[in-house]
Amino acid sequence: MTYAAAQQTQGDDPDITLITPTAPLATPTHGGRAKCLQRLVRLDLPVPRTVALSFATVHDIAAGRMPDLDALCARFDPDALLCVRPSSQDPDWGGPGAILNIGMNNARHATLSQRIGTQAATALYLRFVQAYAVHVARLDPDVFEDIEADEPGGLSAALSAYEEAAEAPFPQDPARQLSEVLRSMARAWEGTTARLLRQGKGAPMDAGLGLVVQEMALGLGRGECGSGVVQMVSPETGLPQITGRYLSQSQGREALKQRNAALYLTRDPRGPSLEDKAPQAFSDLKRHASRMRVALREEMQIEFTIENGALHILDGIRAERSARAALRIAVELAEDGVIPRDEAVLRIEPRAVSELLHRQIAPGARRDILGGGVAASPGAATGRIVFTSADAQACAARDEPCILVRRETSPEDVRGMHAAAGVLTERGGMTSHAAVIGRGIGLPCVVGAARMRFQTRLRQIVSEDGRVFREGDTITVDGTSGEVLAGKVETVEAALDDAFRTLMAWADERRDIRIRANADTPADAQTACNFKADGIGLCRTEHMFFEADRLTPMREMIFADSPEGRAGAIALLLPMQRADFTALFRIMEGMPVCIRLFDPPLHEFLPSDRAGLLELAEALDLPLSDVTRRVEAMGEYNPMLGLRGVRLGITVPEIYDMQVRAIFEATLDASREGEPVVPEIMLPLVSAKREVELLRNRIDAVAAEVRNERGRNFTYRLGVMVETPRACLRADEIAQYAHFLSFGTNDLTQMTYGLSRDDAGRFMSDYVAQGVFAEDPFHVLDTGGVGELIQLGVERGRAARPGVTVSICGEHGGNPESIAFCRAVGMDYVSCSPFRVPVARLAAAHLSL
Ligand code: PEP
Ligand code: MG
Repeated sequence: MTYAAAQQTQGDDPDITLITPTAPLATPTHGGRAKCLQRLVRLDLPVPRTVALSFATVHDIAAGRMPDLDALCARFDPDALLCVRPSSQDPDWGGPGAILNIGMNNARHATLSQRIGTQAATALYLRFVQAYAVHVARLDPDVFEDIEADEPGGLSAALSAYEEAAEAPFPQDPARQLSEVLRSMARAWEGTTARLLRQGKGAPMDAGLGLVVQEMALGLGRGECGSGVVQMVSPETGLPQITGRYLSQSQGREALKQRNAALYLTRDPRGPSLEDKAPQAFSDLKRHASRMRVALREEMQIEFTIENGALHILDGIRAERSARAALRIAVELAEDGVIPRDEAVLRIEPRAVSELLHRQIAPGARRDILGGGVAASPGAATGRIVFTSADAQACAARDEPCILVRRETSPEDVRGMHAAAGVLTERGGMTSHAAVIGRGIGLPCVVGAARMRFQTRLRQIVSEDGRVFREGDTITVDGTSGEVLAGKVETVEAALDDAFRTLMAWADERRDIRIRANADTPADAQTACNFKADGIGLCRTEHMFFEADRLTPMREMIFADSPEGRAGAIALLLPMQRADFTALFRIMEGMPVCIRLFDPPLHEFLPSDRAGLLELAEALDLPLSDVTRRVEAMGEYNPMLGLRGVRLGITVPEIYDMQVRAIFEATLDASREGEPVVPEIMLPLVSAKREVELLRNRIDAVAAEVRNERGRNFTYRLGVMVETPRACLRADEIAQYAHFLSFGTNDLTQMTYGLSRDDAGRFMSDYVAQGVFAEDPFHVLDTGGVGELIQLGVERGRAARPGVTVSICGEHGGNPESIAFCRAVGMDYVSCSPFRVPVARLAAAHLSL
C-alpha cells in the first residue's frame, strides 16, 4: 500500500481533517503548512500521518472548547509519538514553536528503551519534559534548559523539577498532554503580543491559526537516525547547490542550531556526509525535492527525518533566498516550463531589484548602529570619514574608499561625491541635493541623519548613543535601510547577471508605458543605456557646470553685470556644452534626449565660505570685499521661489541662448553619423503661457541662425516642465506652445504642500510616524492632492492639444506606486534616476499583467 493510500482510511471532517490527497483543505481555513503537506501527500511522498485542525477549531480551543480528543488520538497509531506545529495562512506571520514527542511518559519510555535503546528513549522523554515545562506549563526555563540527556539522572531530575515547580507530577496521559499542548499553542496565537507582532507583518486583526498534528518519525535510535533540512539551490545565488544540514541522533531543526556537529549533505573530503551514511535516503531526498519543485511550482526547503536509514518528509517551506536568488529561481522555474514567464515576472517585487544593482550589507551581518536618516540612495558603502570634497578626492587618489560627511551637499560637492564611496548628511530629504545626485550616480547615501551630531569644525560626528567618530575612522552607510553603522560591515556584490537580464527582457515585453532616465552626464547616459532606458527624460544641465574647469567661467558669467561682460564667459562655456550634448546624443543613439535649460538660482554656483570667496576673488582678480558684497547681494530670501528656471531665461537670456545654440550645434554634429537627432528642449518652472511664448520665439531665432550658419536643417521639440500649481491649472494654454509636458513632481509637491523639499527631512519621520502623512510625499506621490493637480494638468493639456506627450520626471518616476498613478492618468512615459530604471521597468510590467 502506498503512503497516500494508507492515509486515506478515515472519513473527512472539515475541521479536524486527516491529510489525504482529497481531504477538504484550504490555506484560508487550515493554513499554509496544512495545505503544503497535502500537496506532498498527493505526491505520495513519505509524509508521516498528519491531521489538520482548522482555524475555527483552534479558535474554539483557545476559548476553552476542546474537540473530541479521543477521536483525534484514534486517528494515529496508538504507539506513535506526536508533534504539533503551527499552520498560519502566511508563514511570515509566524506562530508558536513546534512541540515534539507528545505522548512520552514512563510507560512509553520503557517500551521505547527496548525498541530504540535506553539512551535514545531517555533523550526523547527529557526533551519532551523540557519543552512541555517551558512552553506548555510555562515554568521557569532556567530550571530545565541546562539538563543534558546524557547526564546520569538527568531525566529524573527533570521530572522532579517539574513536579516541584508545577506542584503536580508530570502528566502521563498522552491525550491530556496533547490537549494541553493544543491549548497553549492556540492561546499563544491569540495573545496580544503575538497579534501585534503579526499585524506588524501585515496580518489582519482576525488572522487565524491552524495546527497540524503529525506522527513522529524518530530521529533518535538504532541504525542511521537523525534530522535535517535541505534545499536544492543556494540561498545566496539561487544557483543549483544542495544546501542544508543533517545531524545524526537529532530532531526538528537541531541540525541548524548545532552547526559544528552537523554533517555535510553531499560527499565531502572534509568529513562524513549524509550521502555516505544513508545513500538510499539521500538519493530519495534528491528525487523528492525535484518532484516537489515541479508540483509545488517553487524551490522548497525540506525538513526531513531519517529513522533507521529510512527517509520521512515532515514539512516543506519556501526555500530561503536573497533578492538575487529569488530572481534566479523565478527565471529557472520559467525556463524549465514549471511556471509561465509572466508569473516569474510577477514573483519579483520591483523594489527588490534595486538591491541587485548595488552592493548590499550581507544578510545576517552584525550591525552596530550609530544613527539613521532617510534611505536616500540604495546600497552599502564602507570608508573612512572625510568632511570635505577635497579630502574625498585625495582619498580617491590614494585608492582609499571614504564616506563624505556633510551637513548638506551643494553643487560644489559633486566632485567629492564622485570620489566618495558613500555620503552621509545631517540635513535633507528624498529630493535634497545629496539624494538626487546620489541616486543619479548610484552612490549609497543616507541624508537627514539629524539625531546624530555633525561637529564638522571639530571634524567629528557623534552617534545617537554618544560615541564619537573622528575624521579617518571607518563607518558604513546603508542607503537601503537608512542606517549608519560603525566600522566595516560584510557586504554582498551587485548581481546584474544573465538571470537579471532575462527577467527584465520578459518584463519589457509586457509593459505599456515607457521608462526614461534622468541623466545629466555622459556617464549617467551610459548607465541609462546599460539599464535599457527608453531615452533621457531629464538632463539637468546645471549639473554639467560642476567640473572645476567650468565652475570658473560660470562664475565669471554670473559676476558680469552686462551682456557684453557675459559674452566672454559664454564663449568659453558654449563649446563645453556642445561637447556634452553631442556625447549624450551619441550615447543614446537616436533615442529621445530631453534637455532642460538651466534651472537653479545663480548664486548656488557661488562660494559660501571665506576660503571659497578668496579663491573666487583671485580667479576674477577682484578685491575680496567686492566679491563678498556681490555674493551677498545675489542672495535671496526664498531662492527656490526666486530668480530661477524660466525666470532666469527671460531676464538673463544669454545663458539659455548659449545652451540652445549648443544643443542645435550638437544636434547637427551628432546627426552627421547616424539617424537625424531631434532634441527635446524643456523649460523649467513655468507658470504662465507668456513665458513659453517669449522663449519659444527666442529659441526659434537661435535655430534659424544655426540653420543659416551651417546650411543644414533640423527640427526640435519644445516642452514645458509642469512643476508649479498654476502650470497644472493653465496646462491648456501652455500646451499650445509645447510638444510635451513633463510633470516635475519634486517642485510640484513642494509648492502644493508649501513644504520645503530641502528641510522636510527634519520632521518627516515624525509626521509619518504620527500618521499626518501616510508616506513621505517626496518619495511616494501624493495622489490625493498633488495627483489631482497632475490629473487636471493632463486633462487640460490633452484637451487643448490632443497629441501632446505627457510624462513625469520628478523622483516619483522611479517609485512603483507612483508609476501606477502615472499610467492610470495616461502618461506616455516616466523618467527616473538611472539606477531606478530597472525597478520602474519591472513595476510597469506588473501593472500590465
Ligand atoms: C522636479 O522639480 O520635479 C524636477 C524634476 O526638477 P528638480 O528636481 O531639478 O527641481
Ligand atoms: Mg524642479
